Amino acid sequence: MIHPTPRLRFAPSPTGPLHLGGARTAMYNWAAARAMGGTFLLRIEDTDQARSTDASLQIILAGLRWLGIDWDEGPERGGAFGPYFQMQRLDQYRATAERLLADGHAYLCYCTPDEIEAGRKELEAQKAGFAGYNRRCRTLSPAQRTAFEAEGRKPNVRFKMPEARVMNVHDLVRGDVEVNTKELDDWVMLRPDGVPLYNFACVVDDIGMKITHVVRGEEHFLNGIKQRLLFEALGAECPLYAHIPLILNKDGKKLSKRDADTNMLDYRDKGFLPEAVFNYIALLGWSFSGDRDVFTRDEMVAAFKIEDIGKSGSKFDEEKLRWMCGEYVRRWTPAELLQRAEPWLGNVPSAAFVSHASWLCNVVACYQERIALLSELGPKLGWLLAPPAMDEAAQKNLQKEPAGKSWLLAYADHLAASNLPPSWPQDRQGVDDAVILPSKKDAPEPVCAFWTPAAIERDCRAFVERLGIKFGSFVHPVRAALTGTDKGPGLFDVLFLLGKDACVSRLRAAASGGA
Ligand code: GLU
Repeated sequence: MIHPTPRLRFAPSPTGPLHLGGARTAMYNWAAARAMGGTFLLRIEDTDQARSTDASLQIILAGLRWLGIDWDEGPERGGAFGPYFQMQRLDQYRATAERLLADGHAYLCYCTPDEIEAGRKELEAQKAGFAGYNRRCRTLSPAQRTAFEAEGRKPNVRFKMPEARVMNVHDLVRGDVEVNTKELDDWVMLRPDGVPLYNFACVVDDIGMKITHVVRGEEHFLNGIKQRLLFEALGAECPLYAHIPLILNKDGKKLSKRDADTNMLDYRDKGFLPEAVFNYIALLGWSFSGDRDVFTRDEMVAAFKIEDIGKSGSKFDEEKLRWMCGEYVRRWTPAELLQRAEPWLGNVPSAAFVSHASWLCNVVACYQERIALLSELGPKLGWLLAPPAMDEAAQKNLQKEPAGKSWLLAYADHLAASNLPPSWPQDRQGVDDAVILPSKKDAPEPVCAFWTPAAIERDCRAFVERLGIKFGSFVHPVRAALTGTDKGPGLFDVLFLLGKDACVSRLRAAASGGA
């Protein structure tokens, strides 16, 4: 079968947010369309009027945009095959239903829910195997039909399923599958109010929108059988189907709200990086190449084939998602990371992003190995932005050495008197080449910066030697005084970032404090 212009779609029902499974379905359709040079469209399946809301639609669209999944046709974009909202396509469903009724592929069903249930129970009692709708209305005489109409009954339109046909179907993911239609009901296509049910609307639209490939969750596999039969009845070629396995939790069970956020935007709001989330979701059922887990959208598109989607359920693991975020955080230059993190750094005065850009780049660089989410940076900077309250560990470190406070005073006096410049040198334009953190042993010293971690270290070690104490004992009270904690970047990076004046005043404050 040749598809000259591949057309794929994501068809969400706007009855809730974009969740992980939906995002993956959208992504695989998008990637396949992009890989084949085709079209990717969005179709909004809003026929469940009680549950569909514009708010959900907006959340779905925002989720897709956040992940970088763009669409060529659909809401906000229009297109030649619209409308793209099912509730605006009712006339097409009505016309197609009439055609199927006229051709004998469908029939009017006047049964009430109670009658349907009673019929089902009867079949069940007969243990005949099939226990669905008993197909009573398939064979109504015109007189019976008129009588029902006279009672005021409003008919559903039902599709006539073959009663026991063995179908051999090919699924791009599952391969060749044999299905017997004997277990499948004559399903309702259209309600009396003219609103279609999913399988019917889906086929009418897949035909109308010239869809060539459908990638969707495996829960739709049997729907796919019903849909194939409807394509056949309408004399239309059905798309190639790929039914992809469910996403499972770490234990191999069905994913629940406890395992993953149900709204993709929650990941955005928690500071996850969209590139990393995209990359991670792509791997839930597909792999890029044996030895690489981190790749760009473009690389995915270049490599993606629907046939390569795996047959077995993939497991969602938030730890791995975090790891992936860290991978991205570390790939950027400090300037890029700073730009991305800026919305999360509400505790940094906004003017500083201009006046202290290279200082902030050094701050960010210093933490690049220590964070995974953008939201993790700001809370780590408290010690840097204002003198911190000392935590328990820092207080212990301060008290451990009886002479500790006198060292702090002496070091403060030494720094104050030294010819080291008062603080971080005036900010410079070229941000990237001024980034020297985190400092590493033997790293070449930048020409411009005289208050550098390396210079501070040399000076500090010489000072400690003169004092005649062990360097290891000196470090802890100093760190406690400067950061209020026993964690964080290397001590000389800390001194470097704080600048001489702040170091001096913090050392003095800690030395004179009651702690
Ligand atoms: N609205 C359906 C769903 O969200 C679409 C299924 C399909 O792609 O055919 O599950």
